[in-house]
Amino acid sequence: AKALGRNNYRHFTVNLSNDGYDRLEWITRLRNALANGEFMLHYQPKIEVLSGRVTGAEALLRWRTADGQMISPAEFIPLAEEIGLIVPIGEWVLNEACRTNRAWQAAGYRPIPVSVNISAIQLERDDLVHKVTQALNETGLTARFLELEITESALMSDVNQSIATLNRLRELGVQIAIDDFGTGYSSLGHLKRFAVNTLKIDQSFIRNITTDRGNAGIVQAVISLAHTLGLTVVAEGVETPDEYRHLSARGCDLIQGYYTGRPVTADQLVTQLRPVR
Ligand code: C2E
Ligand code: CA
Ligand code: CA
Ligand code: CA
Repeated sequence: AKALGRNNYRHFTVNLSNDGYDRLEWITRLRNALANGEFMLHYQPKIEVLSGRVTGAEALLRWRTADGQMISPAEFIPLAEEIGLIVPIGEWVLNEACRTNRAWQAAGYRPIPVSVNISAIQLERDDLVHKVTQALNETGLTARFLELEITESALMSDVNQSIATLNRLRELGVQIAIDDFGTGYSSLGHLKRFAVNTLKIDQSFIRNITTDRGNAGIVQAVISLAHTLGLTVVAEGVETPDEYRHLSARGCDLIQGYYTGRPVTADQLVTQLRPVR
C-alpha cells in the first residue's frame, strides 16, 4: 500500500473528482458498485505467434455506473486499493473469471487459461492462496486454466514473502505471469527465484519498437532472458502489423494488443476460440 501512495491519489483527484463528486462520494459509489452488480469483466485474447490461435485471455475489470458511464480501472483501482476495497473486488473478479472460463469449457469450447490481475494489496495478504483455492473449488475450474498476473513492482515490495506465496500458488497448479515486466527494477537474481511461467513485456517497450533502437534492444533481451529461464514471453499493447511482425521475427511467444484483439465481452471472446490467421 505504501508503494502505491501519492501518485495514484493525485491521479484520482485529477480524474475522478472532476465529475462533481468529491472523494467521499466516490468511495460510497465504489462500495455500492460491488453490491449493485455494476462491475463486469471484459476479456482480451492472447495470440500464440506460431499457431495464430487464441491461447489465453486476460480478464479486465469494467465499471458501468447506474447512469451508464463506463469508468476505467486505471481510474478507480488506485482508490479501491487505498481503501482496501480491492480485496472484495479482487475476490469477485477471481470468482467471475473462473466461473466464466468453466462455463466456456462446459459449452465445449477449446480450453484456454484465463488470466486475472492480482493487486499488490491482495498479494501481501495471508489469505490469497486460500481465496484462489476457494474460487477453483467453487467453480470447478482446473487450476492450470487459471493464470494470475502480478506486477513486477508488487513482487518486489517484499521479495521473500513473494517467493513464498508464489511457491504456494504454484503448488496449487495455477500459472503465474509477471506483469508490466521491465518497469519494476527486479534483479536477475530475484527473477530466478520467482516461481513463474510467463513474463509480460510492458507495453511502453513495444511503442515504436520498429524505429526505437533502445526499445527494440530491451525487448530482444527480455525475450532471450525469458527463454533462457524456460519462461513464455508475452508482448502486450501490440497495435500494428509492423509491431506484430517485428516481435514474431524475434521469437516472442504470445501477442496481446489492439492489433490482434481488443478486450470484449465473454460472449464475444468465445467466438474467437478458433484459428484467427
Ligand atoms: P494491465 O494489466 O497492464 O492491462 C493492460 C491494459 O492495456 C488494459 O487496460 C488493456 O485494455 C490495455 N491494452 C490492451 N491492448 C492495448 C493496446 O494495444 N494498446 C493500448 N494502448 N492499450 C492496450 P485497462 O483494461 O484499462 O486496464 C488498466 C489496468 O487496470 C490494467 O493494466 C491493470 O493494472 C488494472 N486492472 C484491470 N483489471 C483489473 C482487475 O481485475 N484487478 C486489478 N487489481 N487490476 C486490474
Ligand atoms: Ca495485466
Ligand atoms: Ca500489463
Ligand atoms: Ca500496466
